[in-house]
Amino acid sequence: MDCIFCKIANGTIKTEFLYEDERVVAFRDINPVAPVHVLIVPKKHIESALKLEGEDFNLIGHVFMVAKKLANELGIAKDGFRIVNNCNRAGGQTVMHIHFHLLGGRDMQWPPG
Ligand code: 5GP
Repeated sequence: MDCIFCKIANGTIKTEFLYEDERVVAFRDINPVAPVHVLIVPKKHIESALKLEGEDFNLIGHVFMVAKKLANELGIAKDGFRIVNNCNRAGGQTVMHIHFHLLGGRDMQWPPG
């Protein structure tokens, strides 16, 4: 399958992981929009939040566990951070493999763009 995040997750494209287990990988975004910008990516190819079903919802809970762990390790937990999932075109999704942005290290704006 021609999916960039599948290739990163399975090691076809070499990327430094900040975290890896049997279900997810986490690595720095190639085009960071905050001092800390990490992508948390399930290894299972799921296109978007709209395609989640069954056990996938436990997987998303696991993603949030990893986000909490990384926020603590990367020093953004105390000041605060943002977890973002973009879904489909109007949501700003550009890679059609579900992923979560962990953003921190600066004050975030609201409403988001
Ligand atoms: P989306 O716009 O789909 O929510 O987020 C996709 C993110 O993936 C973007 O922030 C983009 O910079 C990042 N990205 C796209 N291709 C690569 C890549 O090959 N390596 C890394 N590390 N990040 C990527």
